[in-house]
Amino acid sequence: MEKDFQFKKKFGQNFLRDDSIPKKIVSYSDISEDTLVIEIGPGAGALTKELVNTAKNVLAYEIDSSLKPVLDEKFRNVANVDIIYDDFLNRDVSKDIEKYSYQHLYVVANLPYYITTPIIMKLIEENIVIDKIVVMVQKEVGDRFSATPGNRDYGSLTVFLNYFFVVKKLFLVGKNCFIPKPNVDSIVVSFNRKPDLLSLNNQEQFFQLVRDSFQYKRKTLRNNLKGYDLEKIASVLEKYDLDLQVRAEELPLEVFVDISNNL
Ligand code: SAM
Repeated sequence: MEKDFQFKKKFGQNFLRDDSIPKKIVSYSDISEDTLVIEIGPGAGALTKELVNTAKNVLAYEIDSSLKPVLDEKFRNVANVDIIYDDFLNRDVSKDIEKYSYQHLYVVANLPYYITTPIIMKLIEENIVIDKIVVMVQKEVGDRFSATPGNRDYGSLTVFLNYFFVVKKLFLVGKNCFIPKPNVDSIVVSFNRKPDLLSLNNQEQFFQLVRDSFQYKRKTLRNNLKGYDLEKIASVLEKYDLDLQVRAEELPLEVFVDISNNL
């Protein structure tokens, strides 16, 4: 990293200090030669450098164009990496990846923590099939991703992730591994796409139902879903020995899917 580079807190810039963690992330990712990897926030390229050695192509999005000289220099002789200097959240990813041919699409990144959830939601809602996501996030966010029903971390994001992916915590990364040092430890988590998704009549409706169900976490479904046909919902809940007094945080994915398909 260039000595005079000013880290920008507003972009969540905590760069990995050495090669060991990037190597470990890549070894856990099982990237094959026919994989296109999307990286969000290459920073000074610590992880990118490892990704280009294993992937067919790497497409990276970096919001901070002042990193361009650093990345240009690092990847001067590397043919399989493209870097788009833009806000990932504003990109039409399906369009950006049109020009690549690949068998598998992965996302591998040390995410900027201030927008972890919007990035994950974009990956879920974007019209692209991602086979695997391996991301480093704040430790407590990792707990939220992998929470089970009844746990206080269980929320709409957990349900959405569970719909598409098998979520697994891989390993912890201490705050000393970063420069500048963040306040909290991190964790690397993987999301493997499920081979068979539960059948949904209407994906939009499912997303809305889950969001509405969790609108006020402490409220019952009866109160959160006032605008819905509560009789229909009650009859689905009955199958699971539940009623409208239940809270969303107690419901597993299958029940949300069943309710959504019966609305
Ligand atoms: N991958 C590098 C590493 O591991 O050393 C840097 C990771 S750092 C936690 C996050 C990176 O995301 C920073 O380089 C930051 O500038 C970039 N970033 C922040 N917001 C972004 C956005 N909306 N779109 C694309 N990149 C973003």
